[in-house]
Amino acid sequence: MAITPETQIVLDIDETLVDSTKRHHSKLSRAGRLLGWTDMPNLEDFLRLGGSHGAFGQYPGYFDLNARMCAAEWFNRNMEVLPEALEVVTAADAMVAFYLTTRPDVIAALTAEELEKHGYPQREVICRPADIPVEDTTPWKLSVLKKKASELGKPLLMIDDSVPLHQAILEEKDPNIYTILYAGVRTPRGNGEKTWGEIQTILKNLR
Ligand SMILES: [Mg+2]
Repeated sequence: MAITPETQIVLDIDETLVDSTKRHHSKLSRAGRLLGWTDMPNLEDFLRLGGSHGAFGQYPGYFDLNARMCAAEWFNRNMEVLPEALEVVTAADAMVAFYLTTRPDVIAALTAEELEKHGYPQREVICRPADIPVEDTTPWKLSVLKKKASELGKPLLMIDDSVPLHQAILEEKDPNIYTILYAGVRTPRGNGEKTWGEIQTILKNLR
């Protein structure tokens, strides 16, 4: 990866900067008990199955319930910050271009407020528009990166815990879009993933 010094970074949010996994699992399990779902996955299964769709997708009413939950204020307030991420990202403040997340755009302002409360740099938060289904997150994120890199006239480096996005960026071979796969809690190992400590070293070498 030959990243140039003018490169700006773009940050994913969930499982990259904040930990939403435990809350996601516990709230779905609680709702599921009320709905009579049985044999629900424990947290370990939830992680192994790659998150909520893989772990709960077979239950009736899951997709609607999950979409409503993920767009709700109570679900998205006061999530646990990932302390290493906060340290690395605040040290790299000058390089941060914007945040790019599959969170629905109805919670863009709330998300910006929460990031600020945690101490993350204040930047534009780009959330998934209502007409883009969650399954299309990867091509949508890639299209935003390409558009923004050309608008800003600078190469962009995406830091995200998603293997499909990482692979899509590598396959795209756009000279202005780079990728680092963060070794998030749901990220399957063996895909070149990096810890925040390793990411810090990469970013320091750019400055
Ligand atoms: Mg993520």
